Amino acid sequence: MKNSTTAVEVCTVQCSVCENKFYEFDDNDLTKCPHCNADFIEVEANVIKTEQMLIGIDYATGEIRRQ
Ligand SMILES: [Zn+2]
Repeated sequence: MKNSTTAVEVCTVQCSVCENKFYEFDDNDLTKCPHCNADFIEVEANVIKTEQMLIGIDYATGEIRRQ
Protein backbone atom coordinates (compact mmCIF):
# COMPACT_ATOMS: atom_id res chain seq x y z
CA MET A 1 0.00 0.00 0.00
CA LYS A 2 1.24 3.45 -0.87
CA ASN A 3 0.92 6.27 1.64
CA SER A 4 0.86 9.97 0.91
CA THR A 5 3.78 12.05 2.15
CA THR A 6 4.36 15.76 2.36
CA ALA A 7 7.35 17.88 3.30
CA VAL A 8 7.05 20.52 6.00
CA GLU A 9 9.63 22.94 7.24
CA VAL A 10 10.36 22.99 10.94
CA CYS A 11 12.45 25.83 12.35
CA THR A 12 14.24 25.57 15.67
CA VAL A 13 14.15 29.05 17.17
CA GLN A 14 15.72 30.47 20.31
CA CYS A 15 14.21 33.30 22.32
CA SER A 16 16.76 36.02 23.07
CA VAL A 17 15.11 36.81 26.41
CA CYS A 18 14.79 33.42 28.16
CA GLU A 19 17.12 31.50 25.77
CA ASN A 20 14.70 28.60 25.59
CA LYS A 21 14.13 26.88 22.28
CA PHE A 22 10.86 26.42 20.52
CA TYR A 23 9.69 25.23 17.13
CA GLU A 24 7.91 26.89 14.26
CA PHE A 25 6.02 24.96 11.65
CA ASP A 26 6.36 26.05 8.00
CA ASP A 27 6.07 29.84 7.90
CA ASN A 28 3.72 30.19 10.84
CA ASP A 29 5.86 32.48 12.93
CA LEU A 30 4.98 32.84 16.57
CA THR A 31 4.32 36.36 17.82
CA LYS A 32 5.17 35.48 21.42
CA CYS A 33 7.64 33.17 23.14
CA PRO A 34 5.82 30.04 24.37
CA HIS A 35 8.12 29.96 27.39
CA CYS A 36 8.37 33.52 28.73
CA ASN A 37 5.71 35.28 26.65
CA ALA A 38 8.19 37.83 25.24
CA ASP A 39 6.76 39.79 22.36
CA PHE A 40 8.73 39.15 19.16
CA ILE A 41 7.83 42.56 17.83
CA GLU A 42 10.03 43.99 20.59
CA VAL A 43 12.65 41.28 21.11
CA GLU A 44 14.51 39.02 18.75
CA ALA A 45 13.98 35.35 18.03
CA ASN A 46 16.98 33.64 16.47
CA VAL A 47 16.50 30.82 14.00
CA ILE A 48 19.04 28.14 14.90
CA LYS A 49 18.08 25.46 12.46
CA THR A 50 15.68 24.85 9.59
CA GLU A 51 14.80 21.28 8.88
CA GLN A 52 12.75 19.61 6.17
CA MET A 53 10.57 16.92 7.63
CA LEU A 54 8.59 14.38 5.70
CA ILE A 55 5.29 13.43 7.21
CA GLY A 56 2.73 11.06 5.86
CA ILE A 57 -0.68 9.67 6.56
CA ASP A 58 -1.51 6.02 6.77
CA TYR A 59 -4.71 5.70 4.75
CA ALA A 60 -5.89 2.70 6.71
CA THR A 61 -5.49 4.05 10.23
CA GLY A 62 -5.43 7.85 9.75
CA GLU A 63 -2.20 7.95 11.69
CA ILE A 64 0.15 10.77 10.79
CA ARG A 65 3.78 10.01 11.31
CA ARG A 66 7.23 11.18 10.46
CA GLN A 67 8.75 9.33 7.52
ZN1 LIG B 1 11.36 33.41 25.89
